[in-house]
Amino acid sequence: MRRVVRFRVVALVAFVFAGAVSAMAQAPIVYKVTVPEPEHRWLQVEATFPDIGRAPLHLQMSRSSPGRYALHEFAKNLFEIKAYDGKGLELALLRLTPSEWSASGHDSTVRVVYRLYGDRIDGTYLAVDTTHEHMNMPATFMWARGFEDRPIRVEFAPANPAWKVATQLFPTADPLVFTAPNLQYFMDSPTEVGPLSFRTFTLANPDGKRFEFRVALHHDGTDADVDDYAANVEKIVREEQAVYGEFPDYDTGTYTVIADYLPYSNGDGMEHRNSAIVTSRLSIANPQQRMRVLGTVAHEFFHCWIVERIRPAGLEPFDFTRINMSDSLWLAEGFTQYYGNLILARAGLVDVNRAASDLSGEVNGVLNGSGRLFRSAAEMSRLAPFVDAARSVDRTDFETTFISYYTWGLAIALGLDLSLREMSGDKLSLDDYMQALWRVHGKPGGPAPGVVAKPFTLRDARDRLAEVSGNRTFANEFFDRYIEGRDAPDYATLVEPAGLVVRRRNAGAAWMGQFGTEAAGPGVGITTLVPPGMPAYAAGLEQDDVIRSLDGDAVSSPGRLQEILKRHKPGDEIKVEFVRRSGPVTATIALVEDPSIEIVTLESTGATPTDAQKAFRTAWLGTHQKTLAIAKGKALASETIFPWASWATCQQSSMTMY
Ligand SMILES: [Zn+2]
Repeated sequence: MRRVVRFRVVALVAFVFAGAVSAMAQAPIVYKVTVPEPEHRWLQVEATFPDIGRAPLHLQMSRSSPGRYALHEFAKNLFEIKAYDGKGLELALLRLTPSEWSASGHDSTVRVVYRLYGDRIDGTYLAVDTTHEHMNMPATFMWARGFEDRPIRVEFAPANPAWKVATQLFPTADPLVFTAPNLQYFMDSPTEVGPLSFRTFTLANPDGKRFEFRVALHHDGTDADVDDYAANVEKIVREEQAVYGEFPDYDTGTYTVIADYLPYSNGDGMEHRNSAIVTSRLSIANPQQRMRVLGTVAHEFFHCWIVERIRPAGLEPFDFTRINMSDSLWLAEGFTQYYGNLILARAGLVDVNRAASDLSGEVNGVLNGSGRLFRSAAEMSRLAPFVDAARSVDRTDFETTFISYYTWGLAIALGLDLSLREMSGDKLSLDDYMQALWRVHGKPGGPAPGVVAKPFTLRDARDRLAEVSGNRTFANEFFDRYIEGRDAPDYATLVEPAGLVVRRRNAGAAWMGQFGTEAAGPGVGITTLVPPGMPAYAAGLEQDDVIRSLDGDAVSSPGRLQEILKRHKPGDEIKVEFVRRSGPVTATIALVEDPSIEIVTLESTGATPTDAQKAFRTAWLGTHQKTLAIAKGKALASETIFPWASWATCQQSSMTMY
């Protein structure tokens, strides 16, 4: 009842204002979201576009969504669309393309009503059911071309009146009504309506400005589980602030982690300016799983600086009608992936062995990934639209020609961090580089919330490195070789000061290449592409071929292949008989030593790190909070979280993060 009364007052004020000044060009676009049949997993959106002139209104459903790089065609699940003028008369709607409509013959107001089915809980799509309404905005809201700068008002009417709303949209006095200053901000503001548990904590920047951090959880745990989760999120938030020296100036003064930890969620994370969506099938009621989901939080929160404000030029402003390409995802995503791991160590949530092992797999993926034969890290970034949640019915060769910019970018970040520390006697680190990017490209902000004035290019990223290192030659060589070229840094030398060792994972083992196999009748079928540069590739083996014998022995299982390899040493040449599409083939495989590497601590090899190595490790992986002035809340005593007292067995999430 109170809402209705307030509504009339607002409408009256707006009317008087319009009569006095012709400022109705800024009349807000109003969305009303209702869920008449949540059990059937669709919602209804009523969108009113007022004071739009008499020209046909060009309506658009988004085709892409920031942070997910493929085309998604969000119009696919839209049905029952109708349009009306300001007097309620139905208008003719012309479908221009699968994602565009034109409404003409109106009286300067168009009201569009449509239904939308959605059943995928993640950082990109819509999910509606009897447990919640999980809305990613590009997937949910139709917009009008030419009115992108209009303010927006959105009213939610939850299927269950007890549900609450979590969003980075600007709040109003009504807890179910929110606003956005423009389309870019609105689209960046995913909204969860459901039976949410909230926790908040307040932290301050060195200049004293305070921000509220919220976690809003849709989960199956207890209050104590939520408390524990929120306490660990706070540790992560504090450590990430220390990397940049300050929090961004969050547009509403608040940052919200919106989480769906439900058995029917998909594993995902998505960054936004003042919030993140994190979703997982893991349950916070399980202590191990509650720890595992924190890796995604660490990753996504780091994006409130890099990506959201230190913005790659190819993604700003984001065009919702097409694919958006960036050459800098090795930095935007890869460096974030690196810090996601590092921050868990700095926050005391994983130990040094776990940190080394996490780095290890990624560095191995780069050093031994055949994709490096073909493309640089910058070129891999440009392929994101084909690999990031993209679907194709034809086979692709990405298994062998692509290395994820998450993986490669993490390895570059490790190489750069350790190079800067080494060349400066541990006075400089990657944190200084991130701060330089922040000062020039992030902190200046933009003309409106949701808009970034100084996005960075590949050239800018190179220039910032020259400035931070004070060494243009170093910066040029680093970028030429490792980012725009296909070289990899010398990790064995770089990790030594940290008391880590790069070594062969299976030293001395004979190897013919890495590819998938499965038992296939009288033989072993190859289930993946065979990477170039490997012995099996040179012997002519390829996907779908069936290996019948190796070294003269018939094979009928992948395990048998391994047994035969074990009786050989690198350098041996063995006969392989296989069947390809054109018929039987006999060839020779020249075995090599398994090139896989791992990064381990000196301690795990039986050696003892020196004091200098211990100090280097502490500066790298220990807490950085002591460098920050925190205005509120207990400062964490560094001795209680270092060295690596707890969670030695904590498993980090292996889910894909965006
Ligand atoms: Zn990411």
